[in-house]
Amino acid sequence: MKYSLLDRGDRLSRDLAEQFHQMAQEKELTRDDESPDIVLSIGGDGTLLQAFHRFRDRVGTVAFVGVHTGHLGFYADWKKDELPELLERMATLKPTTVSYPLLKVEIVTDAGRTVYLALNEFTLKSVDGTLVAQLNINDEPFEMFRGDGIVVSTPTGSTGYNKSVNGAIIHPHLEALQIAEIASINNRVYRTLGSSIILPKHHHCDIVTDPDEPLAVGIDHLVFQFQEVRSIICSVAPEKVHFARYRPFPFWNRVREAFIGWDENQGFTKKWPR
Ligand code: NAP
Ligand code: MN
Repeated sequence: MKYSLLDRGDRLSRDLAEQFHQMAQEKELTRDDESPDIVLSIGGDGTLLQAFHRFRDRVGTVAFVGVHTGHLGFYADWKKDELPELLERMATLKPTTVSYPLLKVEIVTDAGRTVYLALNEFTLKSVDGTLVAQLNINDEPFEMFRGDGIVVSTPTGSTGYNKSVNGAIIHPHLEALQIAEIASINNRVYRTLGSSIILPKHHHCDIVTDPDEPLAVGIDHLVFQFQEVRSIICSVAPEKVHFARYRPFPFWNRVREAFIGWDENQGFTKKWPR
């Protein structure tokens, strides 16, 4: 088994990475930063986003594993003190692989076409002032947006930026993308639905803006500036991202633990068992 490792760069994450490399040598795990089978990320969800983009061209063949050195993450779900246990499992077990949908974003400018793959989301904002954009769904005009921006997220990205702008949380078994608004202005000229929209696979949305307005395009943690944009086409990507699961951690449990927490003494099921 060949692995590569990316750490967040802080002291704790770097120390853990060093420990992992040492333990791995004793277990016949080979470090291979070019063509690994498993990519381990040590830090947070942000570190896993970086690892994803580093191995973007090999996304079909690698499986990711995330260790968190801060709070529980959605991608980083192993605790730091569980590192020896994780390594033991990596050396001896064949993991279950789970595959999650990704978002494909095609940016068409006068200069050509750029294609991105996002693990969390794509965000569109104006570089200067409010964003004005027409949204078409499956080549039909849908609405005219004016406001701070638009977030188009994957199911696993739905707990990120999307959640902060009141989008729904989507289970990653649903192959879908979600379009959510950031502070839309609604009046007689600009009218948007207001609620977020969820599109299935094989549907697409086009965002059309004034080509004279420079745009800030966010792909996960990355930001790019674009000029002379004709349209931006979003769809569920044909490829998926794979995660190696050495133990189950259901999505809804992660959502509960990250956002709600659960005190054993609360709730009806405990008080009045059936
Ligand atoms: P960051 O500013 O450190 O990230 C913001 C927070 O989002 C961090 O707590 C990060 O977790 C968490 N996060 C990342 N992906 C998540 C997911 N899928 N579900 C739940 N939480 C998630 O920047 P970053 O670490 O490079 O992450 C970039 C992401 O931040 C973007 O993709 C976007 O989803 C999110 N973001 C959110 C807002 C907002 O909510 N207003 C604004 C901008 C960006 P860690 O601490 O574990 O890294
Ligand atoms: Mn972060």
